[in-house]
Amino acid sequence: MLAEATLQTFDVPGPRYTSYPTADHFVEAFGPEDYRLAVRQRRHDGAPISVYVHVPFCASLCYYCACNKIVTRHASRGREYLRYLGMELDLQVEALGSVQLVSQLHVGGGTPTFLDDEGLSELMRMLRSKFALMPAGEYSIEIDPRTVDAARLGHLSFLGFNRLSFGVQDFETEVQRAVHRIQPAREIFDLMASARALNFQSINIDLIHGLPCQTLQSFERTLEQVCSLRPDRVALYAYAHLPERFKAQRRIQTAKLPPAAERVAMMSRAIQKLGSAGYEYIGMDHFALADDALAVAKRQGRLHRNFQGYSTQPDTDLIALGVSAIGRVGGTYSQNAKTLAQYCDSLERGRLPIERGLVLTREDVLRRAVIMAIMCQGYLDYASIGIAHLVEFRDHFAVELAALGPLEHDGLVTLTDHDCTVTEKGWFAVRAIAMVFDRHLQHARSRNHLTRII
Ligand code: SF4
Repeated sequence: MLAEATLQTFDVPGPRYTSYPTADHFVEAFGPEDYRLAVRQRRHDGAPISVYVHVPFCASLCYYCACNKIVTRHASRGREYLRYLGMELDLQVEALGSVQLVSQLHVGGGTPTFLDDEGLSELMRMLRSKFALMPAGEYSIEIDPRTVDAARLGHLSFLGFNRLSFGVQDFETEVQRAVHRIQPAREIFDLMASARALNFQSINIDLIHGLPCQTLQSFERTLEQVCSLRPDRVALYAYAHLPERFKAQRRIQTAKLPPAAERVAMMSRAIQKLGSAGYEYIGMDHFALADDALAVAKRQGRLHRNFQGYSTQPDTDLIALGVSAIGRVGGTYSQNAKTLAQYCDSLERGRLPIERGLVLTREDVLRRAVIMAIMCQGYLDYASIGIAHLVEFRDHFAVELAALGPLEHDGLVTLTDHDCTVTEKGWFAVRAIAMVFDRHLQHARSRNHLTRII
């Protein structure tokens, strides 16, 4: 099968390119003053911004988790956290200098719905008091189905959220037990029905393949249930088992993980099944119904990519709030302190809690444009990129264009003297195509190569 063979060949670890350079290249030399400088430079811009709020708390631990979270059952921690978010918001608004229009808000975690209704109301009240949320904006929140009911979904709608993302992962009880995340299918079906009745504009379901106890057959049953629920979008992530890096994953029995070939078969079957159910493959881990804004944007070459994955929103500056949150302003990235103690400590001292970040070089900006054009449009027009970035594309990227040769031979791209187009088959390996232009990866590879030689 076409997709399976391509997925198998390119089933290699690599960046997801929600940013370029990726977060592992951020440096601690970048601090609050660098951020303030970047923000000052956008003061007269007037363009709408995006806002991300990170809520780090979870009531229980999922064993596959690789997120920055704090497991606690004390609701009071959420209330205390809101106080710090308020302090951070004040500092951000002071740096931004005027009331900003917001076209996109995403509340993620952790578990945003760890906050009770009162806490979520307070969060939205704080944001609305400092920002002008545009009427046609996209306001989304991640939902742990175990923490909400129909009434809570109604409250989220009342607060202005118009997009929901349900963390389902897998419907099979055995898999749910193995990852310590029990959420009966019946309850998720009821929640989806309530969300539909409340007219949320877009509903996403997150799935994970490669979890313990999953088999191709069991995953097919999950996919069938997902298709019958008919969410507007499906995000299907690959589980990466890295117990030495993520402590929670040490509770997963390696022997229960599906073998690599079966994991690839699951992804391939998902592409096939979701395709027959009317979903279009957007790229990487994302699928959307043909009439969903994401699928329409892909067909029209208007896709974008940000820290939440694919988006229909044009590139906007992203203001990030909360522990470990990552923002992007102009040619900079910034990340908040990763521990709650450091985050709170900075705010107590009246400092933005920015711990590290990056000022992009001209070369980074150029390569970011190239990588995003591949990931989003699947197309590189050498002349237009050359004009926008003042380079002779074919000379500047001679090594990379040569490296695309084998990918062209494999049918993943077509190359002419003027452009590069990702083929239908190439979309299944779009990350591998983008990696060719990642200078930081090239450097890391040559360093590893040297180490091996020495
Ligand atoms: S997977 Fe999500 S809900 Fe589960 S522990 Fe991690 S952040 Fe919390």
